[in-house]
Amino acid sequence: MASLITCPHCGVRPKEEFTIRGDAGPVRPAPEAKFAAWDAYVHQRDNVRGRMHEHWQHSGGCRRWLVVERDTFTHEVHSVVDAAEFSRARAAKPGRKAAPAKPAKAAPKPAKGRGKA
Ligand SMILES: [Zn+2]
Repeated sequence: MASLITCPHCGVRPKEEFTIRGDAGPVRPAPEAKFAAWDAYVHQRDNVRGRMHEHWQHSGGCRRWLVVERDTFTHEVHSVVDAAEFSRARAAKPGRKAAPAKPAKAAPKPAKGRGKA
């Protein structure tokens, strides 16, 4: 199954051109934040089964950081936005864990998928 990611800068590209960093949900604490806040930011992650936002870098292309909304069970990609745009949208709406502004259209689905979760 070929997985395609629509980079907002380069267009539809194969997933092999991208590097995954992980959960885009955690927000970096202030430098003076308490140990518990830094511990949570660095070490504690949800083990999501379903849709989540992840940081991906288009390392084989424009090298920009992106936020990919992906289903961790079906691997279906729902949206891709530039990470800077994602951060601006999240800052504009405090209290929301993830709020992409204008998601790029997701890559076309393969003819035969695994089905929905
Ligand atoms: Zn790109």
